[in-house]
Amino acid sequence: MSDPHSSKCHNANPGHQPYDTPVLIVGGGPVGLALAVDLGWHGIECLLVEQSDGAVTNAKFVDINMRTMEFCRRWGIAEELRDKGFDKDYPQDLIFVTSLTGYLLGRLPVPSFAELRTPATVAERIARCPQTIFDPVMRRVAESFPTVTLRYGARCESVTQDGDGVTAVIANPETGRRETLRARYLACCEGAGSTLREALGVQFEGPGTLSLSTNVTFRSEELLHIHDKGPGFYTAIGPEGRWASMLALDGKSLWRVHSIEKSDGDSAIRRFVGRDFNYEILTTLTWQRRELVADRYQVGRVFFLGDAAHQLSPSGGFGLNTGIGDVTNLSWKLAAVLRGWGGDALLRSYDIERRPVGKRTASTATHLFRTLYGDEKPGPAILEDSPEGEAVRVKMRARVDAMIERVNCGYDYGARYEDAGLQLGYFYENSPVIVPDGTPAPLDDPRNYFPTSRPGSRAPHFWLDENRSVLDLFGRGFALLRLGRSPPSTARFEEAAARLGVPLTTHSLEHEHLLALYNRKLVLVRPDGHVAWRGDEPPEDCAAVLNIARGMPGNGGN
Ligand SMILES: Cc1cc2nc3c(=O)[nH]c(=O)nc-3n(C[C@H](O)[C@H](O)[C@H](O)COP(=O)(O)OP(=O)(O)OC[C@H]3O[C@@H](n4cnc5c(N)ncnc54)[C@H](O)[C@@H]3O)c2cc1C
Repeated sequence: MSDPHSSKCHNANPGHQPYDTPVLIVGGGPVGLALAVDLGWHGIECLLVEQSDGAVTNAKFVDINMRTMEFCRRWGIAEELRDKGFDKDYPQDLIFVTSLTGYLLGRLPVPSFAELRTPATVAERIARCPQTIFDPVMRRVAESFPTVTLRYGARCESVTQDGDGVTAVIANPETGRRETLRARYLACCEGAGSTLREALGVQFEGPGTLSLSTNVTFRSEELLHIHDKGPGFYTAIGPEGRWASMLALDGKSLWRVHSIEKSDGDSAIRRFVGRDFNYEILTTLTWQRRELVADRYQVGRVFFLGDAAHQLSPSGGFGLNTGIGDVTNLSWKLAAVLRGWGGDALLRSYDIERRPVGKRTASTATHLFRTLYGDEKPGPAILEDSPEGEAVRVKMRARVDAMIERVNCGYDYGARYEDAGLQLGYFYENSPVIVPDGTPAPLDDPRNYFPTSRPGSRAPHFWLDENRSVLDLFGRGFALLRLGRSPPSTARFEEAAARLGVPLTTHSLEHEHLLALYNRKLVLVRPDGHVAWRGDEPPEDCAAVLNIARGMPGNGGN
């Protein structure tokens, strides 16, 4: 058995050329970069190839949710990313208008990022951090790990695999120069247009394209001063119903209009504002809003993560965050297998655990999109200065109020719309590497989050002192929590872990509130922060539990 903490990986590759890297990451978008960061954090060697030069000019995502921020905390960048480059005092009110200089149709006061409290159930609250800031920080952190190599201007053209590894042809898009790289595993983070996914015969399932949309980013110093609606997040409703939204990108002079249907940037901006004003268009992006999930997340030694595995409506901002969940689920499993203490079932569990989360998140995002954008068409009268126009607006205001009522949940909690349960409450059911304890599955509620230590769930957050969360104990190997003032001995667990070469650290924590929260005296937490097993006494056969959790059932013995 190898040293479980060593950074060296098993490199046996009989009959083939030596491996260039244990893990080849294809795609250096936010998900590929996050995988490089988490593998680097685990001390695992990896090589990332990205076809472009890595410059990000167009921020697709702007918000990072609570769970992703908890992982940014692990990587030491939560504070750095929090609302960087964004005016924290800018109010986030949801404001519904016919245009910014037209009629007001509804308003939900929402605290600014400065006013948001960190909810009791999380170590980190949501942050406004556009991709133009997130990706460069992730790149810098990835490059800071000696085990991580990033190569830009390198496109993966094809992949073949055999029993021992993956062979990829990498080309420089400018010079056309080709080379062959051999890896034990390949992580496909190619995004929505993944060609590897197609080449490996992975199909997408789901409704498909929901709309063809346009995002236009522009700068205007005067926008906030030429209308009377105040600062906020704006939604425009016209004769055809809700047709666009406008988001503040820095809380000062950078803005983004997102029109649900494809549109010309200039006319979308002018229509949204309702009058002439000074602005400069910076970028225009036309994209497809889709609900699609791959029918497999793993083909042999190739794994699919992020938008290569699932595409969802950005409503609610779940895309990146679901991708980061893929990353933190897969990276420790790859690390465990490469170090020799994890088994094949661990890698197989990636698809079993993550695909249901992808499906659940994708369908909730579509539901949210339909709730927010509905199909109510008020007709041209909504813009008229007449009794008939006012009657239409009164009706529309009632509808907007009802919609606000439905989605107004969780702002105090740092959540967005109806999604605290979606961000934190997903759990891995029927996983071969989770030991069930016989308790029934909790209600699958995307809206609300109820902390639980039931196996498969995210181990709940708890402040151990002013700055230290119990989550800070997770990540490097398994964490065995001994809770309360009279916990049982865990010596047999520790002996079994040492014998099997499984990295395990025991933490004895007396806090009675923590015991009440976790509701069991012993809780075994995986490196990704999900519970693998729990009980009030050590199991009869500690090795059997560890073997399941490390994907080698039936191996070892007590
Ligand atoms: C308008 C909009 C708003 C959004 N808002 C949010 C939000 O607020 N919050 C949120 O969480 N999500 C949001 N999302 C979703 C989020 O942007 C995506 O989920 C996320 O960018 C996916 O990251 P990725 O790394 O998987 O893919 P991508 O960002 O697409 O990156 C893939 C990378 O792979 C590279 N690549 C592709 N093929 C190859 C190859 N063969 N060889 C080498 N390199 C290759 C590409 O050049 C690219 O850099 C939004 C999306 C859109 C469209």
